[in-house]
Amino acid sequence: MNLNAKTQLQELFNNRITFNKTERKLYGHDIAAMPGIIKPFIGSTVPEAVVQPETEDELVNLVKLAAKYKVALTPRGKATSGYGCVLPMAKGIVVDFQRMKNLIKINPTDNTATVQPGIIWEKLDRELAKKGLTLRLYPTSYPGSTVGVWLAQGGAWIGSYESGTFSENVISARVVLPDATIKDFRGSELELVSDAEGTTGLISEITIKIMPLNELEITAVSFKKLNDLQKFLQTIIDENLPVWSVLFINPQMANLKNKSPLRSHGGNIKEKHIILPETYIATLTYRKKDSNEVNRNLLGLVSLNQGEILSDEIAKHEWENRFNIMLVKRISPSLVTAEFCIPLSALDDVLTEINKKVNQPIVKEGLVIKKGREGKPEVIILGFIPSDQRRFSYNLVFALTLTILKIAQKYGGRAYAAGVYFAKKAESVLGRERFARLKKFKLDKDPQNIMNPKKVFGNSRIDTIMSLAELIEPIIRPVGNSVITKIGERIVKSVKGIPEDIVWYAYTCSQCGYCVPECDQFYGRGWESQSPRGKWYWLREYIEGREKWSQYMVDAFLACTTCELCNIKCSVNLPIEPSWMKMRGHLIQEKNKMTIPPFEMMSEALQNQGDIWAGYRKDRDVWFPEDLKDKHYNLSKKTDVVYFAGCTASYVEHDIAMATVRLLDEAGVDFNYMGKAESCCGVPMLVAGKWDVFAENMKRNIKAINNIGGNTIVCSCPACDMMWRQVYPEWAKKLGIDYDIKVKHYSEILAEKIRNKEFVFPANNMAPVTVTWHDSCHIGRATGVYDAPREVIKAIPNVTLVEMDYNREEAHCCGSVLTLIKDPPIAAEVGKVRLDEAVEAGAEKLLALCPCCEFQFRVTKDKKQIPIDIVDLARFASSAIGYSFPDPDPEVQRQWAVFEAMIALMTPKGFADIMGSMWPELINSMPFKMGSMMLFMGKIPGMLNLMKPMFPVLFPILLPKMMPKVMDTMLNRVGKRIPMPDYMSEQMPEIMPKVMNNLMPHMIADVIPLVTQPMIDYLQSKAK
Ligand SMILES: Cc1cc2nc3c(=O)[nH]c(=O)nc-3n(C[C@H](O)[C@H](O)[C@H](O)COP(=O)(O)OP(=O)(O)OC[C@H]3O[C@@H](n4cnc5c(N)ncnc54)[C@H](O)[C@@H]3O)c2cc1C
Ligand code: SF4
Ligand code: SF4
Repeated sequence: MNLNAKTQLQELFNNRITFNKTERKLYGHDIAAMPGIIKPFIGSTVPEAVVQPETEDELVNLVKLAAKYKVALTPRGKATSGYGCVLPMAKGIVVDFQRMKNLIKINPTDNTATVQPGIIWEKLDRELAKKGLTLRLYPTSYPGSTVGVWLAQGGAWIGSYESGTFSENVISARVVLPDATIKDFRGSELELVSDAEGTTGLISEITIKIMPLNELEITAVSFKKLNDLQKFLQTIIDENLPVWSVLFINPQMANLKNKSPLRSHGGNIKEKHIILPETYIATLTYRKKDSNEVNRNLLGLVSLNQGEILSDEIAKHEWENRFNIMLVKRISPSLVTAEFCIPLSALDDVLTEINKKVNQPIVKEGLVIKKGREGKPEVIILGFIPSDQRRFSYNLVFALTLTILKIAQKYGGRAYAAGVYFAKKAESVLGRERFARLKKFKLDKDPQNIMNPKKVFGNSRIDTIMSLAELIEPIIRPVGNSVITKIGERIVKSVKGIPEDIVWYAYTCSQCGYCVPECDQFYGRGWESQSPRGKWYWLREYIEGREKWSQYMVDAFLACTTCELCNIKCSVNLPIEPSWMKMRGHLIQEKNKMTIPPFEMMSEALQNQGDIWAGYRKDRDVWFPEDLKDKHYNLSKKTDVVYFAGCTASYVEHDIAMATVRLLDEAGVDFNYMGKAESCCGVPMLVAGKWDVFAENMKRNIKAINNIGGNTIVCSCPACDMMWRQVYPEWAKKLGIDYDIKVKHYSEILAEKIRNKEFVFPANNMAPVTVTWHDSCHIGRATGVYDAPREVIKAIPNVTLVEMDYNREEAHCCGSVLTLIKDPPIAAEVGKVRLDEAVEAGAEKLLALCPCCEFQFRVTKDKKQIPIDIVDLARFASSAIGYSFPDPDPEVQRQWAVFEAMIALMTPKGFADIMGSMWPELINSMPFKMGSMMLFMGKIPGMLNLMKPMFPVLFPILLPKMMPKVMDTMLNRVGKRIPMPDYMSEQMPEIMPKVMNNLMPHMIADVIPLVTQPMIDYLQSKAK
């Protein structure tokens, strides 16, 4: 792509375009691991740019630009297809539709919905459910793939028994054609877009059929013999049972599902292990209103075909796990996929012949379509052969897909999709007449072949290779069959220092993308590197030596907010967030990479006075209510229970700590406050990867509670709670420290008292109020405390609790702390998502209990002007009893002003600006008389410009020697830029030099280009 094209693209898309090499690489693949033997024939698939349009107009302009500069466009939904159809084969531009994801209209009268193509199935279904509607069919990639794009890709699955393929359920599609015109396709014309894999245009809007939402009933039936399963499936069709969806798996799939690891958290298993019989299992789903009719016949049909109805538990389990078809990847770690469509009548013949000819464990999932292409029942089979892409044998196993497809074709079947690998088979995939019509349309509208070239219509070297391989299939089959496939999770060795489990998980990740849409790191930023999926892919590239660490990728790992939403979304149960946590230690502690800069300031403040806000230790307890001191802040008294307030409640949002001790006191809890002996719980240092500082701090806290003699910590802050409850025990064990401390959150204590009728909120004359509850990640997903705060709220008179759309385990993150300190504008976008949900729920107040969530919400509310009150739960509950507290908002805004200015300072630009304000002092401080020499050079015209290439070498040597001499001036300039409170300014002479020492070695390379010209300008000005 030439420079003009790049410039115009940049103008068109602003911050919604990337030329970043690492990022582009992450948009150059799909879910399939391409066999090494094929890669050379495909060549590089790294695009030259990735754009993210938001409107149809932008698509039109993009197409015009692509036509003018003859640049290929590769449309992309979520890249969950595995046929190579999203690979940018001619490089060019990837058109990522993830921002075109609006729901345009739901029409309940004619049961249709109109959407932009990039909306995720799960999101759409959620909106439909609010109106008593649902989808007629959807792919099993429902949590991660997009609606409009299914038309381009073509397909079928859940619900297809009744509803057929997706294209049969589409009313119309608006498409930007390769000649930059827009066309509305309907009826038979839709064939020019559906299954065309984006080769004929960019879908910008689509209207689909939907249906009323009905409660479903599920029955699972087991068959020992395949032939019996086939007969059973035929009889339910013949008997016309009103069934909506029919899926089945083979015994090998059941076997591997039984062996796959269960979802766990902190080493504890979080789901029941359901053992499936290792047979053919069919799962039938039908509407509850039809259950009498279905059940009346089903029992007879099952026994007629030697089947056995399985327990409701198994049926429920199979249905609830219908999206996790890739789970078996956890024990392979790769899968070779073969997907094909056959007549139902050939099911037994095809699978039996495959079993005979392919000597590999093939796990299969199938679906039945009552009326297939020719009006006859069809079955689609998705077959996986477990393998390991890191070994050469993966190539050999991959070749067996040809054997499988050949057998399917022999019995009247066809490949499921053409894509890149099977473009030669497009005619059979689409049907001869339809293919001819499509080809003519393509030639007519896209003579330059800019729209997704080399897909469907072929024309790549891979066509020749695949044709050749097909010819010699009988010769290569025995080689593929000779591979010995090992099954089981095999976490063996660390590579390049990456911990061994993370190496295995990187290959295990199926790239399904279920973790992407709800990851706040991702939806705040929108680029693949910011998602768990992108990071796993990048790690593979790093492990295989094609990527190196850059600050961009270090930051990508550090910026995860630790919300843990990905852990519950992952289709293969990967411990994603704990893996990123491990990576933090690996990167910062072991590899000495730069952490997010404000953490350096927090770290020094913490080591100085024990808190991250740079307050004095002596002031930690100033908030404690005078009248409670004798009772609850009396360290001469021994109590088991000790209240730990944490830094933010102690120094910024005092109302949280004050209200918590009021509540505990009112509820009759005998406790003591830890007071000045308390230090930061350490969570900021843990997530910063500064693990030595974390460990020292943890030891201080454990010593403090041992000194007081307590054995139970009560927290108000969820992060402190998580440290004491989960992280300290783990680290104490690692470091050989005795640890026998129980932990409770105050909401748990209060809820228990309310449940036992030991505590009752008095009647109050508060005006009735509607509130909603924000589940903080660190007490929700991390600890599982969902009910206690709700019990407290419900016990307060005159309060109505409404739930947000995403609540409990699904709750969205507030966007603190890592987003707030890393990218403040993005934190406001992430926070807005949550606050908008609260407003939409109809709440006047959003209640929360995490000081950091509350801080972030207050900042976001202010920035985005969102009409909702942010109130701490303890404050709300204590106010209902009659207590009042200072408003934390002014202090939050004051502290945020300091923090925001500090964040801006600790960037290359921030440091360059400060340096730009102190050239005389900097030049004076240069060692080896370099300052005078520089001033002299400034007098010789052109000399300093000649010296420019030397500065990147000189500065890193000079700067450490200059810094101590200019520190006073620097502190003075920093003081002018940052509105620091006195206690912070007083500590700066101690803190700042250490911060500079830690940051400068990492940042200097980015600072030098920014200061070179200003310095030359200054020196030349002195010469005049
Ligand atoms: C776990 C899992 C389960 C799956 N289950 C099913 C299933 O049940 N049924 C099924 O059919 N498939 C299934 N798939 C495959 C895949 O999810 C589907 O093909 C899905 O429709 C792809 O959606 P996507 O958003 O990821 O599209 P992508 O993979 O990004 O794109 C698919 C095709 O559409 C083109 N395209 C993208 N956007 C546009 C646009 N706006 N206009 C025109 N063309 C465009 C692309 O170039 C590409 O050719 C599954 C995949 C996974 C990982
Ligand atoms: S923990 Fe949250 S922010 Fe981090 S990767 Fe998972 S979903 Fe994204
Ligand atoms: S991390 Fe899990 S959910 Fe995300 S892409 Fe990988 S397998 Fe899918």
